[in-house]
Amino acid sequence: MASSPSYPKLVDRPKGQQIHHLYLDRIKQFISGGQYAQHNLPGKLYEGRASGGESVKLSVYSPPNLERPNFKEATSHDFKPTKVGEVFGPSWSTHWFRIQLRVPSDLKDKEHLEFHWDANNEGLIWTEDGVPVHGLTGGGERVEYILPKEWYDGEEHVFYIEMACNKMFGNAPGGDSIQPPNPNLYYRLGTADIVAVNLEARALHIDFWMIGDGAREFPGNSWESHEALQVCLAIMDAFIAGNGSKESIVEGRKIARKYLGDHVDSAKVYDSEKEPLVYGIGHCHIDTCWLWPWAETKRKVVRSWTNQCDLLDRYPELRFCASSAQQWKWLEQLYPAAFDRVKAKVKEGTFQPVGGSWVEHDTNMPSGESLVRQFLYGQRYFESRFGQRCRTFWLPDTFGYSSQLPQICRLAGMSRFFTQKLSWNNINNFPHTTFNWVSLDGTQVLCHMTPAETYTASAHFGDVKRSITQHKSMDQDNTSLLVFGKGDGGGGPTWEHIEKLRRLRGISDTVGLLPRVKMGNSVEDFFDQLQKKAENGLDFVTWYGELYFELHRGTYTTQANNKRNNRRSEVILHDVEYLATLASLKSAWKDSKFAETKYKYPKKEIDEMWEATLLCQFHDCLPGSSIEMCYDDSDELYAKLFKTGERLLTEALQELGFDKNFSIKNKSVPLNTLSWSRCELVKMPPFPNGPVYCVSGGGRNNPSLLPLSVPNPVLGASIEEVRKGVYKLANRHFEVEVSDGVITSLYDIQARREVIPKGKKAGQLVIFDDKPLYWQAWDVEVYHLDSRTELPVHKVSVVEGGPARVSLVAETKISDRSWVKTTISLSGACFDDVAYVKLESEVEWRETMKFLKVEFPVNVMNTEASYETQFGIVRRPTHYNTSWDMAKFEVCCHKWADLSENGYGVSILNDSKYGFATVGNLMRLSLLRAPKAPDAHADMGRHHISYAILPHSGPLDHRTVRTAFNFNNPMKVYSHPDKQSVVPLLSAFNIIGDKSLIIDTVKRGEDDEDVSAGDFPARKGRSVILRVYDSLGGRARGKLYWGKLQISKAYKCNVLEDDEDEVDIVEDGMAIKVDLRAFEVATFRLQL
Ligand SMILES: [Zn+2]
Repeated sequence: MASSPSYPKLVDRPKGQQIHHLYLDRIKQFISGGQYAQHNLPGKLYEGRASGGESVKLSVYSPPNLERPNFKEATSHDFKPTKVGEVFGPSWSTHWFRIQLRVPSDLKDKEHLEFHWDANNEGLIWTEDGVPVHGLTGGGERVEYILPKEWYDGEEHVFYIEMACNKMFGNAPGGDSIQPPNPNLYYRLGTADIVAVNLEARALHIDFWMIGDGAREFPGNSWESHEALQVCLAIMDAFIAGNGSKESIVEGRKIARKYLGDHVDSAKVYDSEKEPLVYGIGHCHIDTCWLWPWAETKRKVVRSWTNQCDLLDRYPELRFCASSAQQWKWLEQLYPAAFDRVKAKVKEGTFQPVGGSWVEHDTNMPSGESLVRQFLYGQRYFESRFGQRCRTFWLPDTFGYSSQLPQICRLAGMSRFFTQKLSWNNINNFPHTTFNWVSLDGTQVLCHMTPAETYTASAHFGDVKRSITQHKSMDQDNTSLLVFGKGDGGGGPTWEHIEKLRRLRGISDTVGLLPRVKMGNSVEDFFDQLQKKAENGLDFVTWYGELYFELHRGTYTTQANNKRNNRRSEVILHDVEYLATLASLKSAWKDSKFAETKYKYPKKEIDEMWEATLLCQFHDCLPGSSIEMCYDDSDELYAKLFKTGERLLTEALQELGFDKNFSIKNKSVPLNTLSWSRCELVKMPPFPNGPVYCVSGGGRNNPSLLPLSVPNPVLGASIEEVRKGVYKLANRHFEVEVSDGVITSLYDIQARREVIPKGKKAGQLVIFDDKPLYWQAWDVEVYHLDSRTELPVHKVSVVEGGPARVSLVAETKISDRSWVKTTISLSGACFDDVAYVKLESEVEWRETMKFLKVEFPVNVMNTEASYETQFGIVRRPTHYNTSWDMAKFEVCCHKWADLSENGYGVSILNDSKYGFATVGNLMRLSLLRAPKAPDAHADMGRHHISYAILPHSGPLDHRTVRTAFNFNNPMKVYSHPDKQSVVPLLSAFNIIGDKSLIIDTVKRGEDDEDVSAGDFPARKGRSVILRVYDSLGGRARGKLYWGKLQISKAYKCNVLEDDEDEVDIVEDGMAIKVDLRAFEVATFRLQL
């Protein structure tokens, strides 16, 4: 019988307690670089290496002029020998390498061979026959390509690498990636080796790293932390005892299992029954343009997504999601073989489309209709290619969230929303992780913001830990999404990320304390679970209205030209669709004088125009945070768009019988593409002895022009210099005093009310020093307000003396290089009870880090101001009571902002601006910024900006809403030989009832048989789509008319044009009833 070990009576020798922090530091040695690296695990990771010579023969073709030729074109050229150590450039150039690879005999029997390539830039591996198979990101980010086993045969094998001379974040000159790119960077090819990998050593590396993180990141007073340290020390001891032998590495892995469990070498680790909390999903956030142009994004997509196809083959638990239909379409068009590979994975369910939008767009500035089209084009793309729509809107990285997104999402088939960016707020901490987000109209979506607070997690121990420690909704639910993978050309998840997550799940199940990660689910699965909880009675917290982002407020203003083009493209698309609808159905009106012709609704061109508009709304393009190259690209797209748009307008108008060129022989028609009648001053086409201006009149049933040549007490405006430097401009509505070029008095005659506070100046230009903490193009920081400086006018001159219009020009010098000429005008056309003072500024802008704004102090008191947003109004404070109020020191508006009190108010209209502030009774429109990064020349040059002061008796109402539409869509004059033939068409679509109801869009049905682009089965017959909304925030009722257009059926549908409810046709077949909630957006489909 063995005697049990006895507890000795006498101590053998002294034994000390571990000095904790020393041992904690010591374990870093085992896997890191530095002086001991070769004597620790890093020295064992590779068993052999071959470079140059017969093993790796390199030759190169360098296309000229920064061209990016395709495979066929590139490989048709001669390749010249090259080698490791050679330098390639400049920035943005492309170099095609042919690699002739022969595995040397000493590596032939190794277990695992990789080809390592690192030139500190991006690359794409192509097979010899032209299939792109794998992306590479230099600087150690992703440099390995696993060699096929067939290549271990000692024979020569050939493949190609397409090298792009840019890094993940472009070509920034130094360590600061948002500085403008250096056009002359060169890249040294540092590595082109065949490498034999010791897989056990590599695995032990990950084991040790994760256990070491447990020692470092679990609470210092936890047993789990101390245990992790002891396991790491034991692994090191075994390695030292075995002198780093293969056996000692195997022994180390055995020891690691104490902490990781037995299953971390496969996806089996996820099979335990225990309830997971964190749902891992692979992702690669590829900015559609940013610090590189679109052309590079197209390559980043194929590089990243081919990597993922490879990883999905090797790791069955991985799920990868990709958003942005545009990126999918680029892959489909440019890399069909890669697209087929992706498509097969989509079918398997491992590669998952997500998001339902065309691009990950900005949501502050696009119009309501643009947001609708982001989803219409996105969802239709995904459905046409993969037979499925997305149910979750995916927008991790954008700079604020419109209050109408929940409604539009639901109308586009998405009831859930994923995002993250609000964690960047630099004043207040947003309080929820999972919540119901509620639109202006009361519609909700289930929103989740990942508590790991990143959409490019490296699947670190800390990311998983933070999924619980930063979870803000744990009183209701403790689950979260962990979105991991390198973004922007980093190529998405790496094998390392996936291996780490296996260990982390092992730790959760073996020692606990860490939230359990689950893989193998989709984003949709994750939200399905949340939605099920909501359906089963979990009453998630609500957040009403805008998710205002407390950072990046400069993005409402930066890159003014691009923003103006966005507004203009939205206007022209509205007109093209409206007029093309009339033209394509012109014979379908009862008693129509038009015969059927060959004219076809120009669906293809309209799609191209929309796709261009939607692309430019990408969240670094429209906000102005991209490099200069991106704006060269978008300028080109917009120029093409406007050219196409003008052509389509001309074609549609000709189809409706209008003269191609204005002719005084025929009747003049002021063309009104909006659905209410307009009486306003219209600029005439030039013709000999003709008037410069006329007034539109006659309503929608007899649109005509009235001359404005005689002074008339009802019509006409006047101007006189009442004192030196003081001008009085007057019309039926206002008396305006302009002193020294600014408005010192604006007297509303009917309201008998002075609009400008005594001693204050409206139209005053002010300039601010504008140096935010870091993100120049993005941010304007609150302290810029302290540097306000008034810009004095130095010259005033009268330009137009009336009676049609009076105007004067005020000239302001900003600096030696910059100036502003502002035309202040009053119109003589005043039939309606709406009038405004118009200001048009021409600006030559050459400043550095300055912010130009224009001020309007008004005699109105309210603690809230109103701003137009998509399909509605958002109200924000005019004071700085709390930090939440103060954070909104600069906000986004669309065509107008308004400050009203009981009985009276003032609206400020604009034609191209988005930044605004109302502080007390001071309204301030933001005009131009001058950031120098990432575009060194942002906004330099000439600008044309129109804005207006619209005072009104009574509350904010349809007058502001409609006048702002008019202001952005000035009427043009055409001539027609038989006006009465076209009037029934032009006046057909309108609403009688509450004036808050707006017909925003008139278009043809996407899938009408004479319209369809063929992506979906055609829908029999012809139809008209009308988008209508309540613009003021109250129940709105009326009747929607279509004149004598012969309609057989009418449906209320969603924005994807799925019929939902049939609507009764009333008024002898000429109308339907409309009854909307406050701020509801409704889509009607009228079937002919
Ligand atoms: Zn982004």
